[in-house]
Amino acid sequence: MDDNFDVVIVGAGTAGLMLARELGNLKRKTLLLDRKGNLLEFSFNTLGSFINLKDFDLTENVVAQEINTITFHSKNVKRKVSCNTDAYVLDKKKLHEEILNTINLDFVTIKTNVSIKKINTDSNQIFKSVTDKNKNEYFGKIFIDASGTNGVISKTIGLRDKKVSLATGVEYNVKYFGNADEAHFFVGKVYKGGYGWIFPLKNNRAIIGFGTFDNKLTKELKKRLNEIIELPKIKKLVEKDNELVEGGSIPLTPVLEKFILNNLVCVGDSVSQVNPIAGEGYKFIFEASIMASRAIHDYLKSNNLEDLKAYESEWKKRFLENYKKSKNSQQKLFKYSKYNFLMDFALLMARFKADEKVIRSLSGEHGFDKL
Ligand SMILES: Cc1cc2nc3c(=O)[nH]c(=O)nc-3n(C[C@H](O)[C@H](O)[C@H](O)COP(=O)(O)OP(=O)(O)OC[C@H]3O[C@@H](n4cnc5c(N)ncnc54)[C@H](O)[C@@H]3O)c2cc1C
Repeated sequence: MDDNFDVVIVGAGTAGLMLARELGNLKRKTLLLDRKGNLLEFSFNTLGSFINLKDFDLTENVVAQEINTITFHSKNVKRKVSCNTDAYVLDKKKLHEEILNTINLDFVTIKTNVSIKKINTDSNQIFKSVTDKNKNEYFGKIFIDASGTNGVISKTIGLRDKKVSLATGVEYNVKYFGNADEAHFFVGKVYKGGYGWIFPLKNNRAIIGFGTFDNKLTKELKKRLNEIIELPKIKKLVEKDNELVEGGSIPLTPVLEKFILNNLVCVGDSVSQVNPIAGEGYKFIFEASIMASRAIHDYLKSNNLEDLKAYESEWKKRFLENYKKSKNSQQKLFKYSKYNFLMDFALLMARFKADEKVIRSLSGEHGFDKL
């Protein structure tokens, strides 16, 4: 048995860390649990992001490379787009480290090597505690599922389907001959049933990745990425000089709108808060964590569950229409990527769209009301 906390967070990844930082700032007694031993060890290390660093009190130190141009390639068409907005390749380790270092440890307790297996309720269906694999129990007034695609609580209590399709990606860190501030996306059948990306880093290096929405291809991703690297167009941009593969999966669910059940709140991949079109999770998850922290703070003052629900309504207002539109684009991309001519045609049509509009679509900000 452990101390009684205001908030118990399961998972200290993107969502858990940001939420813990915000709750610590609000002086809420918070317990942050993760099954990992080292919170700065990841299966991949770089992120493309349209984040505004200042919005989240982050410094330039987390930037691996600033992006000013994004080029989309299909089999026969190329569309170069200038970014007049914040666009970065971020260093995941430095980013998580920076958040960890700014967490107020007077209020937040962090425990690693704690793998949560179960959530427990009382007779009124109010959540009372979580239990780890060693049968230790952790008590709190509010519980957060921030366990990522694992969704250890969101799946058990039915906020998310138990069986979730995942879009999986693999990456290599390679030599890079292109422009240092230019990122690339590759789409269409020529890219082997998926889509590819190159994120430049400093010192003439880049990350090249390949992902697919098609679960049948997951086992072949590495093989296909190796094939893509040999395509003449890609060979002009990168050269592979090591075998270290990074990667992971993002959830591919319908757009979810329900993140709360009584005193249980879900944030991040546990409820699929990832931009469906570009796979960008950070910006959306950071914003969701900040919304959730405010609602939790209000609930702890009032003890009124309606205050907690403000998180869901704020999220809907900010994101729902954008998400639905991105989901439609994702489905189109999935369909078009099976045919070179459709992808060529889509990129040709994109030439008539203003750069700003293309970037807005990619970043999942289709222009619906911001709060
Ligand atoms: C290959 C790949 C590339 C990506 N590229 C980008 C990108 O370029 N830009 C971008 O913005 N996003 C990207 N994403 C998406 C982004 O990484 C995720 O959306 C985001 O990390 C999800 O954050 P989270 O906090 O929900 O989950 P995570 O960051 O996965 O954190 C979940 C945490 O919960 C812990 N945990 C799980 N189960 C338990 C348990 N039972 N008990 C205790 N702890 C538990 C895990 O150890 C982990 O630390 C990418 C994802 C992948 C896989």
